[in-house]
Amino acid sequence: MADKGTKKKLTRVEGGDAAAPAREAKPFVAAPESKAKARKFRIFAILSWIVAIGLEVGAILMLKKVPIQTTWLIALIVADLVFAVIGSLLWKKANRFDPASEKEKFRFFVQNQLGAIIAVIAFLPLVILIFANKDLKGKQKGLVGAVAVIAMLIAGFVGVDFNPPSQEQYAQQIEQVKSLGAEHVYWTKSGTRFHLYQDCQHINTRKTDEIFQGTVPQARELKNITELCKTCEGRWKKEHAAVESPVPEVEIPETEFPTGDAVPVPVN
Ligand SMILES: [Zn+2]
Repeated sequence: MADKGTKKKLTRVEGGDAAAPAREAKPFVAAPESKAKARKFRIFAILSWIVAIGLEVGAILMLKKVPIQTTWLIALIVADLVFAVIGSLLWKKANRFDPASEKEKFRFFVQNQLGAIIAVIAFLPLVILIFANKDLKGKQKGLVGAVAVIAMLIAGFVGVDFNPPSQEQYAQQIEQVKSLGAEHVYWTKSGTRFHLYQDCQHINTRKTDEIFQGTVPQARELKNITELCKTCEGRWKKEHAAVESPVPEVEIPETEFPTGDAVPVPVN
């Protein structure tokens, strides 16, 4: 429920509030170059899906040619799967560049789960026609049917976005980093969080040979990173509290600066 406000005197207490994620974050609008990239990915995703559905139509036509060629039929189903999956991966990537708004629930669902919807379109009619086909015999029907069902399940699973990006989420994260006063965030290829320090113990490890520096939306675009590192957040607050308040001096524990593991890392 929305905050209706109050008529009482409202005293903002310094310090604690700034750390909490802002509730009224500015709406997120993707940068023009991000939108252009999203557009390109979406066009290729749609083309790939069109090819997938075309291959399904080809497979359906094969069902009418008796005797039915099992090998060719399976080859068409596998090709259908490949293009359905490529389309879904491109589509999900496009959504990271230009996310939908959670406010429009239906659109948000369709835009993020379109890959799964296409998987149903690209396989379900074929699956039904295989099982309804009278020219396919027992073992042959079982094999072709199983391949088609498994292909549909794989395409559906890849098509689902289990962590759909949203404009609201982006805005909230940008605000969170901004409210802390950080200018950049850092992340790695394999990581799931973005960091405020390039020497954070979680990214500055032996196995890391590249650290990316950029903005919150960039961390989402290039790699679907959805969370701020808790270690970095705690360290940032502690260090900045130490700078702002003249007394008492806050002691920073040694553990905050891991040296043993640290490997110099090029950032830019
Ligand atoms: Zn960190």
